[in-house]
Amino acid sequence: MSIKIENLTHIYMAKSPFEKIALDDISIELNDGEFIALIGHTGSGKSTLIQHLNGLLKPTSGKIIIDGTDILNKGVKLSDIRKKVGLVFQYPEYQLFEETIEKDIQFGPKNLGLSDKEIDTRVKRAMKMVGLDYETYKDKSPFELSGGQKRRVAIAGVVAMEPRILILDEPTAGLDPKGRDEILYQIKKLHKEYNMTIILVSHSMEDVAKVADRVVVMNKGKCILDGRPNEVFRNIDTLEEVGLAAPQVTYLIRALKERGFNIDDNIFTVSTAKDELLKYFKGAETK
Ligand code: ADP
Repeated sequence: MSIKIENLTHIYMAKSPFEKIALDDISIELNDGEFIALIGHTGSGKSTLIQHLNGLLKPTSGKIIIDGTDILNKGVKLSDIRKKVGLVFQYPEYQLFEETIEKDIQFGPKNLGLSDKEIDTRVKRAMKMVGLDYETYKDKSPFELSGGQKRRVAIAGVVAMEPRILILDEPTAGLDPKGRDEILYQIKKLHKEYNMTIILVSHSMEDVAKVADRVVVMNKGKCILDGRPNEVFRNIDTLEEVGLAAPQVTYLIRALKERGFNIDDNIFTVSTAKDELLKYFKGAETK
């Protein structure tokens, strides 16, 4: 199931003194099964873009075609789009409100009008998918949990709608390093084991380098770079011009190379940096 975005422009408060062009003629195709990271400085248009993908915002001009259907066509129900495209907002745990975790996760599937049996199956499946044991957690209050666990409950609430495409807006924001890694691991699992297409909005290059297959960089309402992480992170100058940076480990490796270490400097994750340095030192030992 692909998403085709054609010449999408979004202007807030058009024809007023506060007019703001948030998206400026964007055309891009997001393919089935991809893990895409959407990155850009604050105000570059990321949130505006993702809210078009499940019909929360309407384009000023342009088209959004999901699974071959123009979602603005008459007769297309937004509820059908939202079954296909799930959106997890920033700090989604603020939207938890039920007394128990089970009830909270049931909320979305109930709105789809499913049978009790199907709702039950989906809640159990969604909890498994985000790594929360059903029996242990179902009767607990969401408010008893740690920040990272609360966020997993909120993600399970969207996952229980069983969308093919899951969009997450800054899912690791405000978590400690352990919580960040756990959430990233769960998202990666949703992609790998359950074949969900993932669109991850992030400004953490470290997170993006760890998980994404494709990186789309936005600036001032336009997509300025689009490619595999190693292709995009190579453009350090462009990234810096738009207020971003490559992962920190890339700078470290490049600094070592400048100081005479003969290593591959096209490196974006700590684990590949470790492998490259071990290879280098082993080579140096045997000389
Ligand atoms: P990002 O998610 O990358 O931070 P946004 O999509 O939130 O970017 O914002 C893009 C631009 O649109 C910014 O200049 C922002 O100030 C403006 N904007 C966002 N939401 C609104 C709104 N509801 N009304 C007016 N302007 C908005």
